[in-house]
Amino acid sequence: MKQHRDIVIAGGGMVGISLALYLAEVLPASMRICLVEGFAFPDPLPGHRPDYHPAFDARSTALSYSSRLIYERLGLWDDLQQWLCPIDTIHVSNRGRFGSALMRAEDYGWPALGYVVENAWLGNSLVQALHKQGAVELISPARVVGARMESGRMQLDLEGEGPDSLDAELLVVADGAASGLREKLGLAATEKPYGQHALVANVAFARPHKGCAFERFTEQGPLALLPLMSVPGAEHRSGLVWTVAPSEAERLQQCSDQEFLAALQERFGYRLGRMQQVGERHAYPLSLVKSGEQVRQGVVVMGNAAHALHPVAGQGYNLALRDLAELATVLASSIEQGQRPGDLRTLQRYEERQRQDQQRTIEFSDRLPSLFMAGDPVVGLARDLALSGLDVLPALKRGFVDYAAGVAAMGE
Ligand SMILES: Cc1cc2nc3c(=O)[nH]c(=O)nc-3n(C[C@H](O)[C@H](O)[C@H](O)COP(=O)(O)OP(=O)(O)OC[C@H]3O[C@@H](n4cnc5c(N)ncnc54)[C@H](O)[C@@H]3O)c2cc1C
Repeated sequence: MKQHRDIVIAGGGMVGISLALYLAEVLPASMRICLVEGFAFPDPLPGHRPDYHPAFDARSTALSYSSRLIYERLGLWDDLQQWLCPIDTIHVSNRGRFGSALMRAEDYGWPALGYVVENAWLGNSLVQALHKQGAVELISPARVVGARMESGRMQLDLEGEGPDSLDAELLVVADGAASGLREKLGLAATEKPYGQHALVANVAFARPHKGCAFERFTEQGPLALLPLMSVPGAEHRSGLVWTVAPSEAERLQQCSDQEFLAALQERFGYRLGRMQQVGERHAYPLSLVKSGEQVRQGVVVMGNAAHALHPVAGQGYNLALRDLAELATVLASSIEQGQRPGDLRTLQRYEERQRQDQQRTIEFSDRLPSLFMAGDPVVGLARDLALSGLDVLPALKRGFVDYAAGVAAMGE
């Protein structure tokens, strides 16, 4: 006989883990929640301290204020703070043109405009929080390789550690942008390739970043440098996300450190002094992926599997966190009223409540890079004015900052 679970989350990336933590927090303790992840999760560590030696190989995420509220709600924020670098200012500029804008947290009476964390730290901290919480069953390394609805429940086939099959009231598809499960379930998705790669690396500078994030638009694409916390041996570090053509990404990945730093210095300039060191470089092909159908009886699609965005505005993960907080809230109240976790109307209510946030955030992330890459001189002039306008028009600037913080999307 098949083993039964109430909720199975397929995919233990940062979204799947955060959802598991949230569900365990708000659902009755009798709910059997299970998280299946393809890679082996790190073991529990004494003292709840993630085992990660700071190296120059990590991708970073800019967490917005809305994400801070969610991790505060889960009681994780205090612990996460040790890995975070607050963003005090955002400097937006356009290479070779006059427009630039400076946004300061203090101008809005906020403690920070966002918080940058290396994914390795964030991911490990979240896994350790799951171990500590002890309310979610972890099956890893294992993959959900088949899923279908039969007799009102999701029938799941698994490969790897643990059971070969499970049945579940609700399957959460959180297996990333190239979601195999989305395809297996016949959930249509659209993909709009941007024809660009994001080149990611950590870079050490001669001068301190002083909590400043740089967003620089060049004719090739946007280039962001996010402030990182200091580590021994590399005090002044920033996380680079550099959007370039695929062939350029390949060249920049293969060239020597010196050649790379010279090319980057030429693009970015000397605002943080001379670049001294670069870590491992990784490239990610960029496209906008949207799942046309996000809910079905017994199925909900989350995170990158639901929507993978251009990283320029740092919105993808923040949006996914708002989605999962809403899903957990809607599920909690519906289960309290006696509904089953996979109830279609409950899932549709979640989708309805997040629709506007998703549409606005996806549009914002999609438009920004194309606006700033447009070769048309009229558009070029408009964006210069928009940038200088941002610096002189407090209301407009406030709108931009609210968006970056995720507050606009929360409707506050
Ligand atoms: C360069 C770059 C920079 C970014 N910067 C930011 C930022 O600053 N701010 C921000 O908000 N967002 C940012 N993002 C977006 C953010 O990285 C994503 O939103 C986030 O990683 C999505 O996580 P996920 O868990 O949905 O997917 P993934 O991280 O892809 O995780 C999916 C997981 O599912 C597992 N899996 C796959 N198939 C199966 C299966 N069949 N069974 C079980 N497990 C399976 C995989 O092993 C993986 O662990 C950035 C993205 C990029 C590319």
